[in-house]
Amino acid sequence: MTPFTYFRADDTAGALRTGAGADARYLGGGTNLVDLMREGIERPRTLVDVTAVSTEIEDNADGGLVIGAGVTNTALASDRRVRTRYPLVARAILAGASAQIRNMATVGGNLLQRTRCTYFYDEAAACNKRVPGSGCDAREGFNRIHAILGASSACVATHPSDLCIALAALDAEVTVVGPDGERRIAFADLHLLPGETPERETSVRQGELIVAVHLPAPPVGRSAYRKVRDRASYAFALVSVAAVLDVGEDRVVRDVRLALGGVAHKPWRATRAEAMLRGRFADEAAFAAAAAAELADAAPLRDNGFKIELARRTIAAVLHELAGEAA
Ligand SMILES: Cc1cc2nc3c(=O)[nH]c(=O)nc-3n(C[C@H](O)[C@H](O)[C@H](O)COP(=O)(O)OP(=O)(O)OC[C@H]3O[C@@H](n4cnc5c(N)ncnc54)[C@H](O)[C@@H]3O)c2cc1C
Repeated sequence: MTPFTYFRADDTAGALRTGAGADARYLGGGTNLVDLMREGIERPRTLVDVTAVSTEIEDNADGGLVIGAGVTNTALASDRRVRTRYPLVARAILAGASAQIRNMATVGGNLLQRTRCTYFYDEAAACNKRVPGSGCDAREGFNRIHAILGASSACVATHPSDLCIALAALDAEVTVVGPDGERRIAFADLHLLPGETPERETSVRQGELIVAVHLPAPPVGRSAYRKVRDRASYAFALVSVAAVLDVGEDRVVRDVRLALGGVAHKPWRATRAEAMLRGRFADEAAFAAAAAAELADAAPLRDNGFKIELARRTIAAVLHELAGEAA
């Protein structure tokens, strides 16, 4: 491991003072960053521990919640307000990692965790994300876990977080503070598609600190998070679906939110399916048609074509379950 200096920040100002430099990284629970440092993929000269910064969950005036970036995944999933008003968030967190990792992992770190593409972690492999311009061995390699939507010739990696899929469906916003001041980022704009610059994964700039996630007032309707994976626990999503469905007494869809995990370089908001479903009678045919439309542009690689059918079926099954509960 490359030698580094460790600071522990007490507040935002202290974090920015030491963390704004190009070779500095903020340290949450370290469950991803320390692994990357051990593998030599990240080589920061300065680590700024921000686990003591922004550790509260607060109600806001609009009926939503403001979640500090330093809140642990366990604290977020077990918060009574989250469990009752945003069960989708609690379920997504509990579907991920292990209890020990969730105890360490923070909200800020979860949002910025790096992909689990095996070629990204393998220094002997070509990876445009790790070494821009070096190529992408995943495209012609073993690519069962890779992206089917929004990928590019430069990168087919997927986004790994479960929490982020729920936050995408809930239209969360993220506050960051940096040397140039504070700004709010809509969740849809936080993570980026790879294009020709897969090394740029988010719109957070070097030196900016995530301080909070804002959840708007809970949407009307029933919600679910379903994660399909190779093992029942301790595995990343092959496909996951976060959904909120509001069906009227006339069985017509009043509102729907859908986000997909495991399929793209960022949490994939299924806006095409949502648009098809609003105002439609909530039945199997509508769910299947919307799911098919969302996956219409999917581009499979050698080993991951199964994800297309898996995603279609998981979307339809989750909507069916939610519509059934609403009846
Ligand atoms: C074995 C294993 C299994 C896992 N399984 C899953 C899973 O199934 N689902 C899932 O969603 N996740 C899973 N994870 C990933 C885990 O959720 C993440 O590692 C964790 O959420 C990262 O949080 P952290 O606080 O430890 O981040 P760190 O490792 O400390 O940091 C991650 C990144 O975020 C940056 N960062 C941290 N805090 C801030 C901040 N406030 N502002 C700006 N930048 C910041 C760091 O600089 C770093 O780049 C797994 C991890 C492991 C090791």
